[in-house]
This record gives sequence, structure tokens and C-alpha cells, in this order.
Amino acid sequence: SYRAYKDLQGRTYHYEGALAFALTVDHVQGDPFAAPSRLSVEIERVVAGFPEWCDQNVSRRIGLETFLAKAFSTECQRASQRKGSGKSGRFGIDTPGQEVIERTAVMVNPESIEVRFTCGLPAAGRRALGRQAADMLCEALPDMVASALVFGALDESAVRQAVEVNEDADSLRAQLESRHLVAFVADGAILPRRSGVDQRALSSELAVEFRSPESLRVCLDTPNAGQVVGMGIPEGVTLIVGGGFHGKSTLLNAIERGVYNHCPNDGREKVVAQSSAVKIRAEDGRSVAGVNISPFINNLPGGTDTTRFSTANASGSTSQAANISEALEAGGDVLLIDEDIAATNFMIRDRRMQELVAKEKEPITPFVDKVRPLYEERGVSSILVIGGSGDYFDVADTVIMMDEYLPAEVTSDALTIAQKYQTKNHSESLAFGEISQRCPDPRSMDPSKGRRDQIVKVRGWDEINFGKDTIDLSSVSQLVSESQTRAIGAALMWALDRGAIDGQQTMAEILDRVEAEIAEGGLDVLSRQRSGSFARFRGYEMAAALNRLRTLKVV
Ligand code: ADP
Ligand code: MG
Repeated sequence: SYRAYKDLQGRTYHYEGALAFALTVDHVQGDPFAAPSRLSVEIERVVAGFPEWCDQNVSRRIGLETFLAKAFSTECQRASQRKGSGKSGRFGIDTPGQEVIERTAVMVNPESIEVRFTCGLPAAGRRALGRQAADMLCEALPDMVASALVFGALDESAVRQAVEVNEDADSLRAQLESRHLVAFVADGAILPRRSGVDQRALSSELAVEFRSPESLRVCLDTPNAGQVVGMGIPEGVTLIVGGGFHGKSTLLNAIERGVYNHCPNDGREKVVAQSSAVKIRAEDGRSVAGVNISPFINNLPGGTDTTRFSTANASGSTSQAANISEALEAGGDVLLIDEDIAATNFMIRDRRMQELVAKEKEPITPFVDKVRPLYEERGVSSILVIGGSGDYFDVADTVIMMDEYLPAEVTSDALTIAQKYQTKNHSESLAFGEISQRCPDPRSMDPSKGRRDQIVKVRGWDEINFGKDTIDLSSVSQLVSESQTRAIGAALMWALDRGAIDGQQTMAEILDRVEAEIAEGGLDVLSRQRSGSFARFRGYEMAAALNRLRTLKVV
């Protein structure tokens, strides 16, 4: 019977001979249609034969791990066969996409390499197909290990490229702060993607390569690629302007993803942003729990208190205000805003509207009046895509115009125009105001459902089922992998279980504690069960999940 497979669970098998490695069966599926069984392979470094340069620092190690996960994934596809019912005969691994992120699928340690993968143990109906299982584990698996996890079997130049490109990206990002830049886009980068559903680079015949305007050109050093020239976006308020379809959003999207490194041939390998950059958008319909949105919104109808604003159904402008306030609370200090997905009444209010609707009747102080105090008082920079309103010229430090996919710097033209055509707007605010320091209340978080007291499930990269509640992350565009979302779900549970969320620690303190725990013990600390499909996430995205829990209450 299929249950006979359960005998394998928890055991470790040693493969002997030239290619010695150990196979551990972490979990055996209950039936052929259930989630496939979880296995892991561990191979000694001396056997795998990776030279020291492959992982002599963290950047290189993560580059190598990502490369190996892809190589093993290719082997999984090659070795998978339909051998019967359900997922019978199939191997799988958490496969990296374009971003290079630390994952639990492949872990390169000083003594060994560990790979966690899945295997659909074969069955005909509810009967185990033992001989076929033996083929998978005794014949196919050693071949997969030999092809994907042994240095001598891999393309050495591809391995070198993977680790060097990753090291260079980390090095570029590390130079931003001392140069007072918030982002860097190298000349020659390919920013557009193949399609809305395919994150690979647009083919080189169609794509216009990035080329920095002279005035914003900077030269950074990298350990492997030498000097890299490109556009540096300075701290302060930066506008990206230009006609429709000229590549404005594409540039901002590349910057938004620049908080992560990218794999070779992605086109954005040398596009980096400060890791505290947070994309902000309007997100009407989301819930908001006790957020101070008073810097932007006051005097709501009915006298609603906007220093502790809660709603089950935010409007475009209140959701955007909450998104900014929450990003600042979580420590974000670069805001990325695209007019395409912003609320117009949050962004601007022109003279005529000021005349018609008196200040007392309009709860919103538009972002155009807050973006400078935000920078001057709090050091928070903004990069804004604005094609529709010149009102922002008055508050910009840098103006970049996209013209047929190429940038030009037009700051002084914009300033001249701003002087020539004064908006005569009343500036509606001088100081920025306060941001929240909220303490999430653990009693408002209930992970139970039915008879289970803890059920946290992830469905795709954009949804966490937390008990009976559903957390919708579809507007959180800097989440790039379902494995990050899964790790965030586990981190929420961890923080609740360990008392990190206790009604007294602020959001920022909770995020710091989770971050410190992972830095110390790796992603495995998040769950009792060893998972092969966790990926590293940022505090901002974990905060985004907690903030979207509809039952959340704060102190
Ligand atoms: P905007 O925000 O200015 O309206 P988008 O950034 O949405 O424009 O780009 C419009 C289209 O042009 C998209 O289909 C995008 O993929 C494509 N595109 C953007 N940048 C480039 C480029 N450098 N080379 C070729 N096509 C590009
Ligand atoms: Mg656009």
C-alpha cells in the first residue's frame, strides 16, 4: 500500500562510491495526490569539488547557491517522468526567477552543500510502485547530483559569471550611500521586460540599451567588472518626466527591483537601488489599522481621527497615505511613486481647485506639498514618475526626461519653466508632521481555523491565508517570489509564537527582531519543519503583510 512509503520518513541513506552523498527523507506524502514528499541531499565539499573562489564571501555564496538551484531544477525537469497517479515520478525544487535571493532550496556551507527538493513517490492508484521509486532514488537521483552539484560537471565560466555578477551588484549598492545616490543604472542595461508576464529581458533587437545623460554620469568600481559607468540618481526629489510610452514606468520598475540583485543576462545586473527603497501606490479597498495619516489627511467628514486612522475599505488617497506612513514606520527612506498607479488627488491640487474647494473642505494635503519637507526634515528621498503635472517642477532637485527610451537631464529647463509660469498655488503645508509608531496587538491575530489552532498557508506570491483571514499582497510589487511570501507567513507565526508581537513592541522593533533572528540562524529558524521553499524577504514586505491583516488592531 502507499503507506509503506512512510517507512522512509526520517531516514538518511548514504550513497557510496566515487560520488558519495547522503539522502534524507524529511517528509513522505500521505497519498499520490498530496503535496510531494520532501527530500534533501547533502554532499561533502571535498566530493563536490567547488574551489574557494566560489563562495569566499556572502555575495558569492548566494550567487553560487542560486546557480546551483537552477542547475538542479534543470535536472529535476529532465529526470521527471509520469509514472502513475497524481504527482508520481516528478522531481521539483524551488526554482529561482530573475532575482538572486538567499533560499533554503540550496545551502552552501563550509563543509557541505545541502539541496532540498521534492519527489512524487510513484503509485498506481493507492499502490506504491516500489521498483519505480527505486529507479528514481537509486538511478536518477545520483545522476542528477553528479550533473548539477559537482563542480567538474558544470560550465566553469557560467559558475564564475554567476558569483562575480552577484558580488559586483552588492558592491555597486554598497557605494550608493557614500556617493549620496539613491539608485544607479549602468550604461548598456536592458530595462524593458519581455512581457507583462515574463520577467526576462526584452530581446536585444527590440530593446534600446540604457545610456546615461552626461550630467548624471558617475563611475563606480566593482571587484570583477572594473569601472562601471552609468546614471546616478542623487538623493532628494527626482522626477521622471516624458511623453506617454517613452519608458518612464520601465525605468522606475527597474529601480524598484534594484533592491535585489539579478542573474546574469537579466539586463538589470548593474541596476541597483538603496535597499530601503519602497514602492508606493494607491490601493483602494485595503484595510488600515490605526495609522497616522495626518501629515496628508485631516478633517475627514464626520470628524474621523486621522492620527489613528482605521478603515476596512480605504479610498485611493487614504490608502496611498497609509502606504507612505507605514513605509516610513518600517524604516523606508526612498519612496518610489508612479503616476500610473497613484491617486491624482493625493498627488496634486491646482490653483483652480484650491479656489473652488476651500482648504477647510479638502482633507488632503497633496504630496507635492510634502515631498520637500519629507526630504529636508527626515532625509527621505523620492523618485516620482510624473508625466501629467508640472506643479512638481517647483519641488524637484533633479528632472530626468525619457525620450524614446533614453534619459536626458532637464532640471534647469524645468526650473526656468517653473519661474516663467508660476502655479500661484498656495503651498498648503510647511512641516511634514508625525508618523506612526504602532504596536500590533497579538490578540487581534488569530491563526486558528476550524479544529486547527494554527493554519498559515500561502497561495501564490500574493496571498497568505492566516487562519480565517486572507492577506492580499497583490499590490506589494517588491515581493518577487512565492517563497518570500511563504517565509513571511512563517515569520508572522514565529513573531506571534515567540512573543515578538506582544502589544508593546513597535512594528520597527518586531521587524528588527525577525531580521536579527534570521541573520543569526538562517531562514530555518522560522519553522519547526525544515522547508526547502523559503526565500529571504525585507522587513518592508513583512510589515506590508501584517498591515494588510484585516483583523489587525494596534496599541
Ligand atoms: P511610460 O511609462 O513612459 O508610458 P513605459 O515604461 O510603460 O512607458 O514603456 C512603454 C513601452 O515601451 C513598454 O511596452 C515597454 O516595455 C517599452 N520599453 C520601455 N523601455 C524600453 C527600451 N529601453 N527599449 C525598448 N522598449 C522599451
Ligand atoms: Mg507609465
